[in-house]
Parts: sequence; structure tokens; C-alpha cells
Amino acid sequence: MNVKIGLECHAQLLTKSKLFCPCSTDYHSAEPNTHVCATCLGLPGALPAVNRRALRYGIKIALALGCTVQPETIFYRKNYYYPDLPRGFQITQYDFPIAFRGLVRIESDGGDGGKEREIRITRVHMEEDPGRLVYKGTIDTATYALVDYNRSGMPLVEIVTEPDLKSPKEARTFLNKLRSILEYLDVFDGDLEGAMRVDANISIEGGERAEVKNISSFKGVEKALYFEITRQRNLLRRGLTVQQETRHYDEVRGITLSMRTKEFEHDYRYFPEPDLVPIRIEKYIEEVRREIPELPDEKKLRFIKRYSITREHANSLTFDIHTADFYEDVASKIDPKLSATWIADVLKGELNYRSISMREAAEQISADDFVAILTYLKEGAIAERGATEIIREMLDHGGKPEEILTKKGLAIIGSEAIETAIATVITENEAAVQDYHAGKKEALNFLVGQVMKLTRGTADPKEVRTMLEEKMEQ
Ligand code: ZN
Ligand code: MN
Repeated sequence: MNVKIGLECHAQLLTKSKLFCPCSTDYHSAEPNTHVCATCLGLPGALPAVNRRALRYGIKIALALGCTVQPETIFYRKNYYYPDLPRGFQITQYDFPIAFRGLVRIESDGGDGGKEREIRITRVHMEEDPGRLVYKGTIDTATYALVDYNRSGMPLVEIVTEPDLKSPKEARTFLNKLRSILEYLDVFDGDLEGAMRVDANISIEGGERAEVKNISSFKGVEKALYFEITRQRNLLRRGLTVQQETRHYDEVRGITLSMRTKEFEHDYRYFPEPDLVPIRIEKYIEEVRREIPELPDEKKLRFIKRYSITREHANSLTFDIHTADFYEDVASKIDPKLSATWIADVLKGELNYRSISMREAAEQISADDFVAILTYLKEGAIAERGATEIIREMLDHGGKPEEILTKKGLAIIGSEAIETAIATVITENEAAVQDYHAGKKEALNFLVGQVMKLTRGTADPKEVRTMLEEKMEQ
């Protein structure tokens, strides 16, 4: 099926103050309507002044996405009425955004090899966020809504893609990649609530497109798009056409609902914001370019080359900057391949299971702790199971590797201790021993299992098997 998806991604920038006023952006745990002033409440006579840092962050993002930054940029008024927009217009950009034409590479198959796709970026522009409406219940059943202007005037960068995405899953992969890049740039924190909000356009079989507005999670984007594919396909099947319209995604019910139809760009009566002058941004470009760090794609290639690790591991390790830094720290002290396996496969798995980020985990488990665990493993002091056990214990209850190793008795035991365990198992499992001598060879597996249980997995199973066989033949 021919599916075309384009995204408009609004990312909240990590500046200290809002886009056009000095109000603090640190409102996430604040009471409603406490981070407001005349400007962001749209009171008469209040004038906007552009936050230069926000503008530089916007340029930084545009450069990192390979866009062409424009020499001059102009803010516009986008006119519409909604209770979250007290002025009756949003200050945004239109004909002269900060940048055009960029590119984001994604691994469309999940990252295990080679299937890279290029998603074109149409433009990058700056705009202010409106306030936040809080509904009692859902948008179509609530009897009233509350409005919080703390978010009004928050600095956003809007990143618009061409309709290059071919599936809901690919849209999600793209968003993850975008988040990764923005976090590398240190201008965005995806963990903050509502940090990225997405409008998703989707059309199928060359029909009209529907736009699903203001989706606040990546999972939500994927689900809303799957819902739209089914809805639009059903319309076509019944011989109807898809209308161009704006829809709302109901996160609770997992469906999209029509909000308004027949609305076009010219309806917004865009015109240049008369309270702000055009801004020459050309002079910032080279300076900002020098602030751009190594980005995920470059880091991935360097990891593959420098540490001889697989593409899949490199992908997984460079996905977020904290994991990448952690890996490099560990890999500089011990076998880089072993480090890659244990961080990408084991540690990340344990973190996912507990829904904690690498940044949070770093407080429980330092790179040096990790090196210590891998050293035990490499020297044969603990088994793989023991290493995993230490990682789990550290994440759940804290502590240091050496303490946990002793406390939980995870050290691999020697032949003498195995012999003692074998003797005990043989005495306690007469029936199985007789079965074995009667030719039932599977009884040996049972006995090996009993020894492993008795030694709490600290014995080498191969050694146990050999020793047990010898003992039985005596
Ligand atoms: Zn303000
Ligand atoms: Mn927008």
C-alpha cells in the first residue's frame, strides 16, 4: 500500500527564559499560571523581545540536520482564536524561517544492518508555544477546560519533514533519531513532559491527507497513524474519499476524531510581526557551527572503526549520548568488544526492563563499577550469570560489585567444592543414580541440574558434567 507520512515536530528548547519574555521556562513542577507576565499573557502594550539563546539553539539544530541557514529571518503573526492563545495570534515564522532543506538518516529495519533511509527536512523554524488546556476527561466529553499559561511563550523549534516516511513504525524510528540528535546538541530534554509534540500528516493511495494534531508521545504518533491507515482504507473501500481535515488523537481510546475541515494556510492571514525587526542571523552561523559536537551517525562509524564492534552494537550504544559516553569510558579501560556486548545487550536490557534511562542509571552504577564487573568475568572469578546478578542488584538496591559478589556468594567455586556438592547430590538422589546405571542417560541432566542448584550457579556446568560422569563410573 502507498502510504505517505510527513511530520511537524515541535521541540521545546532548554533555554532559561521564554522566547519573547524573561519568564522562567522551569515550570514543570510549578503551580498553574505562576510563570507568566504581561507579554506571555498577551496584555495590551506588552512588547516581545527575541531570546538570542533560543535563536542560536534553533540555528544549531538546523545545522546539525544539514539545513541551509538563511542570512536573515523574520517572525510572523499567525492569526487564529483559541483559549490557549490570549493574544489571538501566535508569533511564528512563515516565508523566512531560519533554515531550509536538511536530511536525517534512519535505519529503517531497526538497526542491524545497512538499510539506511534518508528523510528530507523541509524547513526549520522558531515559534512560541501556546498555553495548555487541561480537560476534565476527554476533549469531546469534558464539560469545561482549564487553561494554564505557564507554557505560553515557551521557545519551540519546529522541524518539518517531506512526506518521505512510509509507515507508522518508520515515523517512530525517525522521531527517536531526531530526539537523539537534539539531545546530543544539549538543547533539548526528551524526558520532560510534553518536550516534543508532533503533528502528523498522512495520506494513502495518493488521496487527500489528514493531519493529526498535537500528539505528545512517539508511541502515540505510531498508534494514531495506524488508526488513520485503517480509517482511510475503510473509506476508500466503501467508495468514499478521504477529506482534507484536521484531526485530534485521543490517547485514552487510541482513535482520531475530526476537529475541523477546510482550513488552509491563507486562512491564518500571516503577516510580518510589526513589533519585531527582521534579524540578521548570518553572523552567528560559523560560531554556532563550532559548538556542534560529534553526532550519532559520525560517532557510530567511529565506534565501528575504532573498537571493531558490530554495526548493531554501535547503533545501540550511540543512540543516546549518555550511553555512548559510558561505553567509551568503560572501553578505554577494558576489552571494547566485551564492553559493547555487556552494555548494549545486558545493561540496556536491564534498564529497559526497569524503565530507567542511562543518565539515571549512572548514579547507581559508574563506569569503574562496570569495569570491575567485567574484570571479574574476564579473570574467571564470576560466571556470566553472576555478572548479570551484580548488575541487577546494583540497579535495584545499590552497593558495590565486590560487596555483592561476597554477600551473594557469586564467586566461581573450585573442583573441591564441586566434588563435595556431587557427593551430596548422589547420596540424596538414589533413584536418579539407579536410573542412570539402568541406562537412562537423561538422569545425568537431572543430577547436573541438582549440583548447579546446590552451588547456586557458581560452578562451571561442563566441569560438573565431566566430574559427575567420572564419579558415576567409579
Ligand atoms: Zn512571560
Ligand atoms: Mn507549529
